[in-house]
Formats: sequence, structure tokens, C-alpha cells
Amino acid sequence: MKLTRIKGFSDVLPGEVETWQRIEDAAERVFAGYNFKEIRIPVLEKAELFSRSLGESTDVIEKEMYTFADRDAKATLLSLRPEGTAGVVRAYGEGQLHQAEPVRKLYYLGPMFRRERPQKGRLRQFHQIGAEVFGRTDPFIDAELLLLLRDLWEELGVAGTVLEVNSIGCAQCRPGYRAALVAFLEGHREELCADCDRRLERNPLRVLDCKRESCAGIVTAAPSIRSHLCAECRDHFDTVLGLLKELRPEPVVNERLARGLDYYCRTTFEWKAGEGLGSQNTVAAGGRYDGLVQSLGGPPVAGVGFALGVERLALLLSTDEAGGPAAPLLYLAWMGEEAQRWTFALAHRLRRRGLRVDLEGESRSLKSQMRRADKLGAGAVLIVGPDEMTNGKALIRDMATREQTEVDFADVDNTLVSLRERADQVSG
Ligand code: ATP
Ligand code: MG
Repeated sequence: MKLTRIKGFSDVLPGEVETWQRIEDAAERVFAGYNFKEIRIPVLEKAELFSRSLGESTDVIEKEMYTFADRDAKATLLSLRPEGTAGVVRAYGEGQLHQAEPVRKLYYLGPMFRRERPQKGRLRQFHQIGAEVFGRTDPFIDAELLLLLRDLWEELGVAGTVLEVNSIGCAQCRPGYRAALVAFLEGHREELCADCDRRLERNPLRVLDCKRESCAGIVTAAPSIRSHLCAECRDHFDTVLGLLKELRPEPVVNERLARGLDYYCRTTFEWKAGEGLGSQNTVAAGGRYDGLVQSLGGPPVAGVGFALGVERLALLLSTDEAGGPAAPLLYLAWMGEEAQRWTFALAHRLRRRGLRVDLEGESRSLKSQMRRADKLGAGAVLIVGPDEMTNGKALIRDMATREQTEVDFADVDNTLVSLRERADQVSG
């Protein structure tokens, strides 16, 4: 039987992985500039962590989680993490991070798992880069996170993204809005989809972002959350918007951007791709969750964060700008066993000095080695055969100019290193 991948789980092959590395490098640089520290959390957690943080009546909990019983006596239910926030919040509390310094700016990257219908930009194992900030309630940090993402798009050369933002109020003002929304939706109960019919009781704000056209149509006439915001929430939101004035295109206020859970509050946002992703066009999403840390047993600190989908971001980057040119390869062509041992040792010395070097493991003709060097895109080839071993001199062939120069064995290492340095100066 042929062994194949699990549906919705994918490999990132050489040639594609360079785009991922570019995304990860750019993210690390941008996060560092905003003084974020990386955190690494497990891929498996107790299932309870997610049901408590995401809420029972969400798609992720109801139908998307990979959950199974462990082999311990209690058959503890474990889940492959469907997202990163819950684990980071748990780690923040469990690691007592708040004691030394309650304000923490953390980021993570890694695989997440959701049993969704696989399609372009939607996998069952996908990857997120995410950020969480604990201990800050001020609107400046919300704006900082959004500018950070804009910087990342710029760093990667992703054009045409649009930021949508909303405020969903707080424990003071949301109940009033919720009541108004429920009253409105009850008048349209017959027209709602089955999911929204259920949401109406348990999680009415989630009706706002139902993807079904019929529901979206009804919702356009729903009461506006903006007019229900209390003075503090309105101030907070206006400050965030004011701090984003320089963004081009300007952020769009989308009152349908909602999160269903009680601990979500105030700012919510999505960065959407201009084109290239079809209907899976949200690249990053996030918002404020001031009550979450405490509801998971941690200290009463505010939280705000986002997660971006690496696969979707990778789809937006054209492959020809991926990776950038790696340092050209130095190919060591050898003939005869003595030359093989000598070049093997040389390769090791040069690699330790930062050169990218390769050579064959089995004897081949010089002609076939030159063909290999060409195919591998080598910038230069060092040629060492029995004659060179006797004379203590090797040939260096520049693959671009086809020029050959002779070097004493004693000078080979330094000559090759300085050739590389000169090439770097010319190209960079
Ligand atoms: P969607 O509405 O597309 O299902 P979501 O609201 O479930 O998104 P979040 O939980 O907010 O998504 O996750 C943040 C980001 O992670 C998304 O904007 C997207 O870029 C990415 N993402 C989420 N689910 C998947 C998936 N199954 N495959 C690939 N990327 C995903
Ligand atoms: Mg989803």
C-alpha cells in the first residue's frame, strides 16, 4: 500500500520552505522591534483548556477539534491545539509571569489543528504566528499591534491588504446591545440558517459574522453596536482609530466583526487580502479579551492579541521573491581516493568558516562533476585530481567567467574564503 499524507495535512517542500523562512525571519525582526519575546507552548493540551477558553458553542469546539483520550487511568481528554491564545494564557498564569512583570508582550509560531473542510487557504494542520499582550488596557497597545502587522506586510512586500476594525463594547454596554440585537433577530427567525437559529439563544453576536449570504443580508439591517457603546468604549475605539490615521488604505469600520464570547471586548479586527486568496481572504484576526486570563484561573490582567495564518500569507507572496538568493555554492570536484579525502577535510574547514560547500560521495568523471556543478548553480568549482595532489596545487574555476586559476594547497582555504567575500560585496 502506498503511504500518503492525511487529508488537510501538508508538506512544505524545499522550494516552498524558503517562503516560510522568509515569513518567519521577517516576523522575528518585526516582533523584536516592538519588544516582543517568543514563547513556545505544547501542541497538546487538556481538552478542557480549549472548551473553557473558546466556549462550548463555537465551531472549533463543536466540530473542529482533534480530541482523544490519553492512556492514563482517568483517560484524560487531550486536544491538539486549535489556536494559540489559550495555551499562552495558561503558560502566563502557570509560569507566574505576572509576578515579576505583569505587562508581557509575547509571540509564538507553530502548527494548529482544526478538522475543517480542506480547500485553498484552509487546512487541517495549518500554522499561525500570533501575539498576545497581557496587562495593558490602553488603546495605544491595540494600535501598536495593528501597526506591527502593517510593518510585517511592508517588510514582506505584501500589497493591497485592508484592515477592518470594530469595537464590541464591554460588560457595561454590551448587554444593552445584545438585547437590541436579539429583539431584531427574533423578528427574522424564520429566515436565519439553522446554525444562527441556535446562536440566537446562546451566542447572538456570532450571527453577525455568519458567512451565509441569507444571514449576512438580514444582518445589514441589524442595530448598530456603535450607538450602544458606553463613553469609555467609544473613547477607546476613537483613540485606536486616531492612532491608525496614517494607514493607507484607511481602516474600514466593519460593525459585523464580532466575537461571541463574553471575555472578548472592545477592539476586534481582521486584515484581509486584496486578492489571491478567494473566499479564505482573512490573513490575520484578533482583538481584546480582557476577562480571559482571569477566567482561566490567572491574575486579573487585560489581554489583546492576534493570529495570522502562515499558509495564507505564503499564498500572497510570489514565489520568485521567495527566499532571496542563497550564497552561491562552492563545488569541490575530486578525482581519486587521495583527492577525495583531501577535499572532504577541506569542505569541513570551509563550512566552519561560513561557506556553502558540496561534493560527491562516489567517484565520477570530471565532466560529469562539472555538469553537476552547473545543475546545482555553483558559483565556483575547485578541481583536485591525482596530479594536483602530487604538485600541491588545485584549480579554481569561476563558473560565470569560465576562468581558471591555480592555487597552492597552503593558500586554498583563505583564497576561497576571500573569493566568497568579494562575491558577497559585489552582489550585496
Ligand atoms: P475563518 O473565518 O477563515 O475560518 P477563523 O475565524 O476560524 O477564520 P481565527 O481563529 O481567527 O480564524 O484564526 C486566525 C487566522 O488563522 C485566520 O485569519 C487564518 O489566516 C488562519 N486560519 C484559521 N483557520 C485556518 C485553517 N483551517 N487553515 C489555514 N489557515 C487558517
Ligand atoms: Mg474557522
